[in-house]
Amino acid sequence: MTTSFTIQPSKRLAGLTSAIFTEMNRRKREVEARGEREVIDLGIGSPDQPPSPLIMEALSHAVRNPDNYGYPTSEGSLRFRETVTRWYDHRFHVKLDPEHEILSLMGSQDGLAHLAQGWIDPGDIVLVPDPGYPIYFASVALAGGEVYPLPLREENDFLPDFGQIPEEIRRRAKLMVLNYPNNPVAATVKEGFFEEVVAFARENQIIVAHDQAYSELAFNGYRPPSFLETPGAKDIGVEFNSLSKSFNMAGCRVGYLVGNREIIRPLAVIKSNIDYGIFLAVQEAAVAAMEHDMNHPGENRNFEVYEQRRDVLIDGLSEIGWHMTKPKATMFVWAKIPAGWTSEDFAFTLLEKAGVVVIPGNAFGKEGEGYVRIALVKPVDVLKEVIRRIKESRILSP
Ligand SMILES: *Cc1c(COP(=O)(O)O)cnc(C)c1O
Repeated sequence: MTTSFTIQPSKRLAGLTSAIFTEMNRRKREVEARGEREVIDLGIGSPDQPPSPLIMEALSHAVRNPDNYGYPTSEGSLRFRETVTRWYDHRFHVKLDPEHEILSLMGSQDGLAHLAQGWIDPGDIVLVPDPGYPIYFASVALAGGEVYPLPLREENDFLPDFGQIPEEIRRRAKLMVLNYPNNPVAATVKEGFFEEVVAFARENQIIVAHDQAYSELAFNGYRPPSFLETPGAKDIGVEFNSLSKSFNMAGCRVGYLVGNREIIRPLAVIKSNIDYGIFLAVQEAAVAAMEHDMNHPGENRNFEVYEQRRDVLIDGLSEIGWHMTKPKATMFVWAKIPAGWTSEDFAFTLLEKAGVVVIPGNAFGKEGEGYVRIALVKPVDVLKEVIRRIKESRILSP
């Protein structure tokens, strides 16, 4: 294709290109175009379950209220913020001030993308888990900062090792992002680790931003803790949370940031300049979700579905010789690939021979090499078909 358009996009854009995701999609379309069989996509991390009828009812009610059509505010309605306060107290026994310690977000992605804009100048360093959720890297690139990756390795239970961070990096680091339960590695936090984080952050004067998108999506009775439960955490930290996964409301774009008011403030200023907040009807639906959750814990969700899928997939793959750990939380499985492959070759070959999409681990950072991420976003019968196809592809025994 030739074009006479010669104006170049900004250099910042280069920090955003997720070449692997693009390539995976291109190849998926190619395989689909052959029309031999349907491609099963276990790549995307978007919940396939609807929200509870009660939430949809609250939303449709709020949509019919004429009062909900003015501009909202970027910090969120007082009602929304007060409900988050009560939910955080109920769920984690964390006390928050609804006036200053909560900021509504158009999905936590909004805040994850913009927090660095408020804190990072060129030359500042952000400590980012590797592998990590792509926006952590992209937000630093957009702010002109530098990423220092914190390797998450199996031998360290997928926790960063602060002892490995050189003195000079500690000095220049201003912000650290953490995420437990983790996407993509599906690990949960170990007892005592958040205490270690608080001590390290205080000693080195580093802001901690904990992404807790999967706080409710856990199995076998496990209840992930809030970072803000840790003594001293609110002095140096904030936490992102979201209704996307917890209440199957991903398309509603509703989340929030809670914690230290000084850390929140610059983001609030930026947001008051670039958006006017979440549609009030959506905030009402979020209020209904949290309220119902406090009154009838667990009823809003249907996470046994993911647990059952996890067991079917992992047990089934194990039977045909591919072994992986059962995660205690998230809707992902972080699977070590058989020896002799790179993550990309394995994922591309799996797509080619089995018609199954998974994400190569290196799409999430250098340390993701050697793994693929499998999302549990299809029903059990489809996962059984995945196992059958993988077996027939003979990819496990080349
Ligand atoms: C899904 C996800 C988010 C984004 O959530 P939204 O609130 O929908 O923007 C944030 N962090 C992680 C780790 C996620 O997997």
